[in-house]
Amino acid sequence: MTAPQPKPWIMAIAPYVPGRSTTDDGRKVAKLSSNENPLGTSPKARAAFESAAGTLERYPDASANELREVLAAKHGLDPARIIYGNGSDEVLHLAAGAFAGPGDEVIFVHYGFAVYEIAARRVGATPVIAPDKDYATDVDAILAAVTERTRIVFVANPNNPTGTYASRDEIARLHAGLRPDILLVLDHAYAEYIEGDAEDGGMALAATAPNVLVTRTFSKMYGLAAERIGWGYAAAPIIEAMHRIRLPFSITIAGTAAAVAALGDTGFVEHTRAHNAEWRAWFADEIARLGNAGLRAVPSQANFVLVLFEGALTAEVAYKGLMEAGYIVRWLPGQGLPHGLRITIGTADECRGVIAAMRAMVEKSG
Ligand SMILES: *Cc1c(COP(=O)(O)O)cnc(C)c1O
Repeated sequence: MTAPQPKPWIMAIAPYVPGRSTTDDGRKVAKLSSNENPLGTSPKARAAFESAAGTLERYPDASANELREVLAAKHGLDPARIIYGNGSDEVLHLAAGAFAGPGDEVIFVHYGFAVYEIAARRVGATPVIAPDKDYATDVDAILAAVTERTRIVFVANPNNPTGTYASRDEIARLHAGLRPDILLVLDHAYAEYIEGDAEDGGMALAATAPNVLVTRTFSKMYGLAAERIGWGYAAAPIIEAMHRIRLPFSITIAGTAAAVAALGDTGFVEHTRAHNAEWRAWFADEIARLGNAGLRAVPSQANFVLVLFEGALTAEVAYKGLMEAGYIVRWLPGQGLPHGLRITIGTADECRGVIAAMRAMVEKSG
């Protein structure tokens, strides 16, 4: 051997493909490919971020005391049991790093979040894929995939890229069916977008069960994707293990300041939630009107809609046509969805523009 050899499980990783922000010919157009907040971020968070410029030479507080205290007060949690990371992506990696390794199995659904597979492979564990039912998480399929080697089950709820939501009863049934030595990770990146007051009971499980980790993020509803602040909640021994492998300074002073301020701006969050609910419903209705052309929207509880193309107009042609029209959405052939586009709910104008472009393509292809 003439050069350092990466571990074979590292070379088995298909690199994460982020949402694009420019077209093939380099034009910057409306980005509806990463589920960011189309309304921006809270002005209070922006002001807090700017004021942090005075302490650039300082290391951040490694124990993130203020962030944990504010989160605990807001959600009624024990601050000692909050883990935090460089986006919730890091928290997901910490879970895999602390609880899985070579020879172990990590379960997630087929149409699931790409980071789970990367996190599993990174530590040499074997990814195990549970089939979905109508694009939604199938608890029975997950339970059927469990073996003696299973160490972690990752479930995003609502799920990305499908937008589907597993009810509180389904999550309770999943948890009840898992051995206590299996860590159930409930990824709540989109929990704030669920209709009404519904929630899946994950946080209550994390508070009481020894084997449930809930992860949350400031990247979506709070509009702070740039600043990479995520967190998680679980039983103390789970959190303690994850702290051992956490980078000491993975969240920044400015990001933390913005996150704390964002938590206090309930008006911005309510405005975002109402906007998303209104335009998600409108968007799904408009797709339903294109149903005879073979378009179908998977029911979504998130800030995006997965549109399936089952007629003459294909997802690939629609993806390119939308790019031409000035909208970048997510086409996911690498995730088993060559027939689907995941489209972030944008501003009112963006939603209208996407539907107008889609309708024009349908008319042309019919
Ligand atoms: C966006 C997203 C995350 C969070 O990403 P971070 O920016 O790293 O907090 C986590 N899980 C899912 C399913 C997501 O879609």
